[in-house]
Amino acid sequence: MITEVLCLMDGQEAEKIARAARIIQKGGLVAFPTETVYGLGADALHEEAAAKIYAAKGRPSDNPLIAHIADREQLDGLAASVPACAVKLMDAFWPGPLTLIFQKTEAVPYGTTGGLDTVAVRMPSHETARALIRAAGVPVAAPSANTSGRPSPTTAAHVWEDLNGKINCILDGGPVGIGLESTIIDVTGEVPVILRPGYISREMAEAVVGIVDIDRAVEGPPDPQAAPKAPGMKYRHYAPKAELTIVTGGQQDVIDQINRLTDEKEEAGIPCGVICTEESRDQYRCRNLKAVGSRLRPETIAHNLYGVLREFDEEDTAFIYSESFEEGQLGQAIMNRLKKAAGYHIIQV
Ligand code: AMP
Ligand code: MG
Repeated sequence: MITEVLCLMDGQEAEKIARAARIIQKGGLVAFPTETVYGLGADALHEEAAAKIYAAKGRPSDNPLIAHIADREQLDGLAASVPACAVKLMDAFWPGPLTLIFQKTEAVPYGTTGGLDTVAVRMPSHETARALIRAAGVPVAAPSANTSGRPSPTTAAHVWEDLNGKINCILDGGPVGIGLESTIIDVTGEVPVILRPGYISREMAEAVVGIVDIDRAVEGPPDPQAAPKAPGMKYRHYAPKAELTIVTGGQQDVIDQINRLTDEKEEAGIPCGVICTEESRDQYRCRNLKAVGSRLRPETIAHNLYGVLREFDEEDTAFIYSESFEEGQLGQAIMNRLKKAAGYHIIQV
């Protein structure tokens, strides 16, 4: 299959989005930018179209997809009931980086929900994403547009690396803003539960609906005995080719420990690298340093994290050492992704 790349930002956006929307209407696959990461879109109500997403990504068929909508009316066709807490969350955070889990209607095929009776729905705020969904006239199922097991794509070039030849079209809208996937909140129970942290933090959600729980799997490694709340949670997450270790503790202790570890490796001729911040970059001896962002602006760390991990995958680095980040607010989402990438391998100093 030839993958057509349609570059936006040239005054021809409307025509290109209309062309991509026709591909979705015909059951094809279009990657498009959202405010979180690039999504791989297909008609969410069309079982065979959704099946193509799984094939292109190499995604296990019981890992459900998120249906993206452009307006609230589209939710009526997907959600069998909309609890009061969901209305409050939607009023506060839609359009935006928040996915809600509802009981599904019969219109939603099991091929989209991975066999579940619930459906995940999000209304993105990115203009291209919304224009595409509106033009397609159907909810658009869109997981991240990466090969399963690789970091989510934050640029069209990342999508191309993974999916060239496997999808019909890539809408290139430049780098995304946030850089981490949406917050997922299950609103089907009595208390809303965060299944995946993201830009919308627990504090932000609690300010709107009162108590919000966090699923156990968000903070630590999944319990092999417990059935996962989100089927995606049971799959091995992205892990870099190199062995990634997070070093946590007082700032100077962390820097000293990472310097000791990289000295050892480099003396033995083993290629290694460090994930640091703008604030600490001058304090490392390792030659392969990647500053992921500034501690003063955690949004820069979220924005760059997946790109940095992809860069390491292109090198022959054997060991990566990363600083750790404050777990509050956006930091919870950053550390959730970093810990999964490290396989929960953490050194406390
Ligand atoms: P992705 O868009 O690639 O980040 O993947 C979508 C995520 O949403 C996966 O982790 C899924 O497990 C989760 N998800 C989608 N639908 C549901 C659902 N009905 N219940 C729980 N989690 C879901
Ligand atoms: Mg994904």
